[in-house]
Amino acid sequence: MSLCRLIYSSQAISGLTYPDLKDILEKSEKNNPPLGITGFLCLGNSMFLQMLEGERAVVTQTYNRIINDNRHFNIQLIYFDEIESRMFTDWSMKVVQIGVNSPPEVKTLILKYSPSAVFAPEKMTTSQCLNLMNDIKVLIEEKKTVNLI
Ligand code: FAD
Repeated sequence: MSLCRLIYSSQAISGLTYPDLKDILEKSEKNNPPLGITGFLCLGNSMFLQMLEGERAVVTQTYNRIINDNRHFNIQLIYFDEIESRMFTDWSMKVVQIGVNSPPEVKTLILKYSPSAVFAPEKMTTSQCLNLMNDIKVLIEEKKTVNLI
């Protein structure tokens, strides 16, 4: 059994609705805990950035299911490797919306780790993605206003 982390970006379909996001969160909260999957999902500028952590075969199966979901496309695998420990131990999945209504702290983080002020995970390096997700997690844990679904 090998503990792994997977990160990908994808483009949301233009008709993605709030109920779609709620459904993704509910499915994740139902499916991930019994599988030992933890992670984080950001949506901004019609782009998803997701991290999945867990046992290699289980992460692979979950990723294969997710990439067949018709609510997103242009999926880019950013990172997949063995890890010593998880970043998101307490989260079966959290979904954060990043956009014009985001608090200034989140906008600052996007600028800090991106070539532009617009959230574009497909243009970010692995470490920029990791740092951005970790810093948003810290904001959430400090109970700063972050737009959680
Ligand atoms: P059911 O609704 O019972 O689905 C049964 C089967 O129908 C699925 O296995 C799938 O093959 C098919 N199906 C259902 N909905 C769709 C759809 N919209 N498009 C194509 N086929 C579909 N799920 C997780 O469990 N964990 C996650 O972390 C997770 N993250 C996601 C992130 C993103 C960006 C997106 C778009 C989806 C994510 N999902 C996640 C949802 C995932 O893609 C599946 O819809 C979900 O896992 C199906 O769960 P189920 O088999 O219990 O549901």
